[in-house]
Parts: sequence; C-alpha cells; structure tokens
Amino acid sequence: MPLVVLGTHNQGKVRELADLLSPLSIDVRSLDDFPGALEIVEDGATFRDNAVKKASQQAKHLKQWVLAEDSGLAVDALGGRPGVYSARYAGPDATDAENNQKLLTELSGVPPDERMAHYACHAALADPSGAVRAESVGTCQGRILTEEHGSGGFGYDPLFEVVEFHRTFGQLGPAVKAAISHRARALHRMIPQLQRLLQ
Ligand code: IMP
Repeated sequence: MPLVVLGTHNQGKVRELADLLSPLSIDVRSLDDFPGALEIVEDGATFRDNAVKKASQQAKHLKQWVLAEDSGLAVDALGGRPGVYSARYAGPDATDAENNQKLLTELSGVPPDERMAHYACHAALADPSGAVRAESVGTCQGRILTEEHGSGGFGYDPLFEVVEFHRTFGQLGPAVKAAISHRARALHRMIPQLQRLLQ
C-alpha cells in the first residue's frame, strides 16, 4: 500500500485528515511516526506559502509523499486576523483556550451581525523528491459567538458557529465537520489527484 505522511503534529488535524483519507487504500501516518522529521518554520505570508513549504521540505527530508495543510481563522471585523497566525494568536506557545480568550477580548462589544468569519485551508501534496504535485483549497463560513459552546473539534471550534446549522463545530461533532469543514472541502478536492498519483 502506498504511504502518505501527514505533515503535522496537531492531533486535531491528524484525526480529521486520517478519517477523511480512511476510505482510500493508502497507509496514512503522521509526523509523530517519524522522530527525525524536520521542525518547519511557518513564516509564510499566506496559507499557501506555509502548506507548500511544509509539504515540500518534509517530503524531501523524509523521502516520502507528504500531505500538508495550513489553515486558520479569518475574522471580518479584525481585517482577516488571526489568519496565518491562528495557532499562535495569543503568543508563540499559546493554548487553544488562550487563543479563544484573546479572540473574545478583541471582539468584545462587536454586535452579532458583525462577527462573521471563515476558516480557510490550503492543502499541498509533495512527492519524495519534494516536488509539489497537487494543491487544493477549502473554506467554511461562520460567526464568532460571545462564549464557548460544546467541546468537540479543536482550536476555535467552540466559538465558531456554522451559519447553516446555528451550532458551533464544538457542538456539531466529527461527522458534520467531515462533511462541510474547510479541511474536508480541501481534502475532497485533493482525493482524486491523490488516487491518480498514488494508486
Ligand atoms: P497551522 O498548524 O499553522 O495550520 O495552524 C492552524 C491553526 O488554525 C490551529 O492551531 C487553530 O488555531 C486554527 N484552526 C485551523 N483549522 C481549525 C479547525 O478546524 N478548527 C479550529 N481551529 C482551526
């Protein structure tokens, strides 16, 4: 079976990506299975820059196919922030709870109809030489609530209300996220290319 390494240590992402790829005949691992993996510095200006860098450099280093994605939250009232800084919004080693608290503080006093936001994901697949062979994107529209609801998902999910469900990703559970999230949408677009290249 062909092997694809997910270019992340983020357990929330690993869970979701591995589930999305589970119908394929591909052996899916994460960087946790490769102790010699590089620590890639995510200093790109865009999700695309970071995704391509994470896939390409890691693939070349590990000599394996690597599927990486960069993703984050863009809030309209904050001019698109935290964007590529979503993971370290409240500081370099910020926890999800600290990032969520900072978001609530920055949006305090902003009325419900001005709290629109979207998640964005850029996925990139690199071959063992480091060449990027496929890319895809996905987005998901929502609204930032004034307090956390639910404990599912990860990151900003307890604050992110999905417009069409009037529930947060924290409340909706993995099946809904697997159908409509930014990551799911990017992956669904990537899967035909993955199959063509690897199966
Ligand atoms: P990355 O590892 O640099 O791509 O950081 C992604 C960050 O964006 C995560 O640490 C979260 O803060 C946020 N993020 C991305 N996708 C999601 C999601 O599906 N739910 C909640 N937060 C997310």
